[in-house]
Amino acid sequence: MTRMPANLPTVHRRGLMLVLSSPSGAGKTTISRALLERDEHITMSVSATTRSPRPGEIDGRDYHFLDIARFQTMVAAGEFLEHARVFDNYYGTPTAPVEAALASGQDVLFDIDWQGTQQMAENARDDLVAIFILPPSVAELERRLRSRAQDADEVVRKRMAKAGDEMSHWREYDYIIINTDVDRSVAAVEAILAAERLKRDRQVGMHDFVSRLRGE
Ligand code: 5GP
Repeated sequence: MTRMPANLPTVHRRGLMLVLSSPSGAGKTTISRALLERDEHITMSVSATTRSPRPGEIDGRDYHFLDIARFQTMVAAGEFLEHARVFDNYYGTPTAPVEAALASGQDVLFDIDWQGTQQMAENARDDLVAIFILPPSVAELERRLRSRAQDADEVVRKRMAKAGDEMSHWREYDYIIINTDVDRSVAAVEAILAAERLKRDRQVGMHDFVSRLRGE
């Protein structure tokens, strides 16, 4: 009978890229925050943007705030995993920190729109897990948009129209969560993460591990 080797080769996990997209008002930010608090193996990607910081936003934490020339230099140098124009500003995901995190087995969470998600699917399909969050109803979406910003009717109408556009991309995502209850939605994201982390191809070194288990 073959003896089991004492020191089995180690298996480690390549991190994954978790994209959460939704129309504004569907609850994505609340879900992201809860997830980041509860799970130390996932960190938020910090995007670059050409828009000005809002009060309370910190450079390097909320965004890397860049001028347009610097942003364009990075685009030309191929330093973004994806980039897009949203409203009147440019946004992009710097590649280097994401690649370092994935290689070290850390997962990365992205708050990007459907345009960015499409590019990520083209550039990094194997690492990508894309979740779309939907509001439970039109009335609830409108209620959340109104209660949040106390915006003028006109602004709310524009956001509702934009939400309609954004939601038309639901088929491009791997998973859909209807956000009726935040706790249940967070639990659903955690369940998806738990399963995706066990995917065969994310477990690096499995071939050698199993070979040794079999006494080869
Ligand atoms: P805000 O200016 O309100 O922070 O973000 C506006 C929109 O830009 C949001 O819909 C957000 O998902 C999107 N966004 C933020 N960062 C990125 C990014 O790096 N890439 C893409 N494609 N969209 C982003």
